[in-house]
This record gives sequence, C-alpha cells and structure tokens, in this order.
Amino acid sequence: MGEDVERLKRRTPLLDYLRQHNWTGRPAGRSEHVGFCPLHEETRPSFYVNTRKNVFYCHGCGQGGDLIRFVQLSRGLSFRQSLAWLDAKINPDGDVTAVLEQAAAFYQQQLDQCSEATSYLRRRGVHDPALIRELGIGYAPGATLRRYLTAQGYSFDGLRRIGLINVRGADALYQRIVFPLRQGEHIVNLYGRSIGSAFAHRFLPGSKGGLYAWEKVRSCSDVILVEGLFDYAALRQEGFHNVTCALGTHLNDCQFRQLCEGERTVYRAFDVDQNQSGQQAAEQLAHRLGTHGITARRILLPQGHDPNSFFVGGGDVEQFRSFLKAAQT
Ligand SMILES: [Zn+2]
Repeated sequence: MGEDVERLKRRTPLLDYLRQHNWTGRPAGRSEHVGFCPLHEETRPSFYVNTRKNVFYCHGCGQGGDLIRFVQLSRGLSFRQSLAWLDAKINPDGDVTAVLEQAAAFYQQQLDQCSEATSYLRRRGVHDPALIRELGIGYAPGATLRRYLTAQGYSFDGLRRIGLINVRGADALYQRIVFPLRQGEHIVNLYGRSIGSAFAHRFLPGSKGGLYAWEKVRSCSDVILVEGLFDYAALRQEGFHNVTCALGTHLNDCQFRQLCEGERTVYRAFDVDQNQSGQQAAEQLAHRLGTHGITARRILLPQGHDPNSFFVGGGDVEQFRSFLKAAQT
C-alpha cells in the first residue's frame, strides 16, 4: 500500500495536478510556487507548493500535506477514496475499482440507519462493531445508489455496465447485506446476501477475486477455509485469525494457487448439508491439494451445521478447537 501511494505521487507531481485543475502560481524561491488557495477564499496569495518535497501549505487556512491530502480536502473524500479516485484519473481501467469503492462506502453509511439490516446481522451472530467496520460491511436499502453515484459524475450506462444498477436504475444488491471483496487494496467485486426472500447470494458480474482477506493469512501454516462470509465473520469474532473464505464450495484457479503458495495445512469447514454437495466439493478439493503437497483436513461439525450456525446456535470456542484437533485428513 505504501509503495502504491509513493508511485502514485511520483506519477502525478502535486504542481502538475494543481495546474491541470486550473491553479496558477508564480515561482517564489528556488523550489516554491505561491498562488491563491483552492481550499479557502482569500484576497492575497498564501498557498505555497514545494516542488522538491511535493507538498503544499496554506498560511491562510493552515491546511497542508501531499497530493492525497489535497484530494481529500478539495473533494471531500476519505484517504482510501482519494487513492481510488486518483488511480482512476491516471489509469482509466482503474475506474471500476473507484466506483466500487464509492458504492461500498455508500452502503457502509446506510447500514446503521437500517434497523432491518442490523437486526439481520444480529440474527446471523455478527455483532462486533470493530469487525463490521474492518470488513466494510454495508447494506443496500433500495433505489438510492444511482442518485448518489450520478451526483458524483458517474454515468447511468457506466453503472449499468459494472452491474451496480439494473435497467430500471434500481440497486442490483437491493435489500442485501454487502461485503466488499478486495484483492490487495483494490475492491474487485461486491457480494450481497439477501435479508429477504430474494435469491440468497449475489455477486456483481466479473471475477470474485482470490480468497477472502488472503493477505492476513498467507503466511499462516494452518489455515481454516470456510465457504461463506458469515462463517468467516463468526470465526473472526470468536478469535480465530487464520481464517479465509472461498465464497462458495468451488475454488477458482487464483484461490487454489493461493492455498498452494507455501507449505501449510488447510482445515476445511464446509457446510454439512443434507445432499452432501458441500462435503463432496471438500473431498475433491482435498484430493487436488494433496497432489500439490498441501495437507487438507476436514473439520467435522455437528450434522446440519456450518461454522456460522454452530456459533449462532450456542457452540463455544473450546468445542470448535476440539473439532480442529480431531480434524481428519
Ligand atoms: Zn487556504
């Protein structure tokens, strides 16, 4: 992340950025330019840009910092949103990431205002505010995203192409709990879990990316692999940090390669459902991992349970640890 920020700042020197946005300044000293402050009204120039350090400072309003800080202040964006916005300006292919970032931030703001969403999360046993913030969990209450994003300058057609809205302009993830899916720092997709009677799981078109939160566990020698994000959240809340999620029972190539990156043991905790499809997928996966030298163990949960329903139903941490110990190859 730090490297990305430095690269971005090198690619767009602050003075160039300001000039592109119609700022005019005159040289003042060897590596300084001075002009009117774009951040506040003033009658005498007090906004200084230091081209050697690539930073600004305004003696009028007291604001100062680098390019990212300037974008934050001038556009009212968060640090992360500013990065995405700049990235999209420089690299038009990055545009999808920027708009997904905005959509995710918008849905995150809606969550606390919608009691139906917070009570659904509580019912599913997700209650830790710090974890909810960390994962960026949000809620899509209805046909509000389009208005918000078009006001930010995004076109209706662009939003349609990305799949955030449908032909009628309604949110594709309408009445769903929303999890942003990241690959490194970039959001690559959104997952929506219906809180009503609509089809339970939905992704936007395109790849779901790699394993969920893989950066956190890639160096772990023991990894617990779950099927769904509510399983993931439940385990994280109970203090298990070596968890990742495949967003389904079938791993894509990227996810499979990630698991095979190093020497490790993978503990599969897939749903024990009635038609056994979860277990079948788990067994096929174990076999494939085995051929790549990865030990795969299967966690046997009580019949009819996944990790989420196990903890929601009152299962305790010690009991889950005993399942881990007893996990079979
Ligand atoms: Zn100022």
